[in-house]
Amino acid sequence: MRVAIQGAGIAGTTLAWWLRRYGHEVLLIEQARALRSGGYVLDLWGLGYDVAERMGILPALQARQYLAAELRLVDAQGRTCGGYPTEILSRLANGRFMALARADIAATIHAALDRGVETIFGDSITAIAQHGERMRIDFEQASAREVDLVVGADGLRSQIRALGFGAEATFEYPLGCHVAAFELPGYRPRQEDVVVIHGAPGRYVTRLALREDKTLVFMVFRDECLGAEFPADLPARKAALRGIFADMGWECPQILGAMAAVDEIYFDSVSQIRMPHWTRGRVALVGDAAACPSLIAGEGAGLAMAQAYVLAGEIQRSQGNVDAALRNYEKRLRPFLSAKQKAAEKLVGAFVPRTAFGVAVRNFGTRLMRLPVFPELLMGRYLRDAMTLPEYADGTTPSA
Ligand SMILES: Cc1cc2nc3c(=O)[nH]c(=O)nc-3n(C[C@H](O)[C@H](O)[C@H](O)COP(=O)(O)OP(=O)(O)OC[C@H]3O[C@@H](n4cnc5c(N)ncnc54)[C@H](O)[C@@H]3O)c2cc1C
Repeated sequence: MRVAIQGAGIAGTTLAWWLRRYGHEVLLIEQARALRSGGYVLDLWGLGYDVAERMGILPALQARQYLAAELRLVDAQGRTCGGYPTEILSRLANGRFMALARADIAATIHAALDRGVETIFGDSITAIAQHGERMRIDFEQASAREVDLVVGADGLRSQIRALGFGAEATFEYPLGCHVAAFELPGYRPRQEDVVVIHGAPGRYVTRLALREDKTLVFMVFRDECLGAEFPADLPARKAALRGIFADMGWECPQILGAMAAVDEIYFDSVSQIRMPHWTRGRVALVGDAAACPSLIAGEGAGLAMAQAYVLAGEIQRSQGNVDAALRNYEKRLRPFLSAKQKAAEKLVGAFVPRTAFGVAVRNFGTRLMRLPVFPELLMGRYLRDAMTLPEYADGTTPSA
């Protein structure tokens, strides 16, 4: 089969890897001019970790992982008021747990494609037309192509979803918060092995040390902290963050001062994508485009990898019956992913408490994590997936 995948993020590269392994011809289309660098650090465990293992990329990922030993909550004066050693999370996941930059995961998988997949950078699909079992795709820049299947792996704000399934608002399920993330070069203080978090009612800010003397700042806040207007450009984003975080203690004034010089801020609502179907005709969605669980689930990357693995596996298993493959892809994963989304929705209150009392309870809860039994009680169910990866016949990798 010829498959066009839009989005060279985590879902898109994983799907390309498995489809290529099964002998299909893959075209990856990425809007950015090169693989995206930077971005936030995320945790990989569960099914995503299992998929990475089956792809043989665990050693490459391990070489790029971040090894912060402690998650530390601090009060407005910088005094420790909660937290726990991150080793607890790893233990709950039976040691199968890694913290990685989102961009490093995508780059590692893309490198594992070993040039066996054509990637078009700086372009996007603008139109999809189905002619029988073939699809014609038009691009912003490149000439039109014909393929057998089009897959949207283009994230929360998927363009393929808009083209093939309808308006984003129909499927977006906002969780009542926004997130902003940016990198600061040379920021001090710098603690290599501690993730520091300062929370106040309706808001929190995190900083963690990245390689090359960069610091990642990560801010989450309730919608009501933001004015009515979504800040569309960089100056508006900076102004919004200054307005929301200026009166918080700890290093907030200093962080906001350093933010003045940054030229990119990731800024979006914390939303899920809930769709009645992830496939229509010969168009399919994977990863955040199909079923974003939101950053609160803390597992979007791994789940995106699992979806890609299952979609490719079902295509392999169906031996050319694409309709059956797409149906089985949904059937296998939908209940599991819906449960993940519901669990994440329930966590919003603990993630961003609205009141000072809520913040104190959350901080206390993190202290309990240091005691026996509590890690299992509080986090155990979130760090284990109630599903195992299906087995598919192994493919062979065609030569590049
Ligand atoms: C702040 C934050 C923290 C998070 N923390 C965690 C965590 O701890 N653990 C975890 O597992 N997950 C976490 N997540 C979620 C995780 O990042 C996503 O679920 C995961 O990256 C989904 O992968 P994806 O490939 O579906 O989408 P993305 O990673 O968003 O990739 C989409 C790709 O498509 C490209 N693209 C977009 N539009 C177009 C277009 N029109 N044309 C061509 N290309 C396009 C983009 O440039 C990008 O390369 C977090 C998310 C956020 C925002």
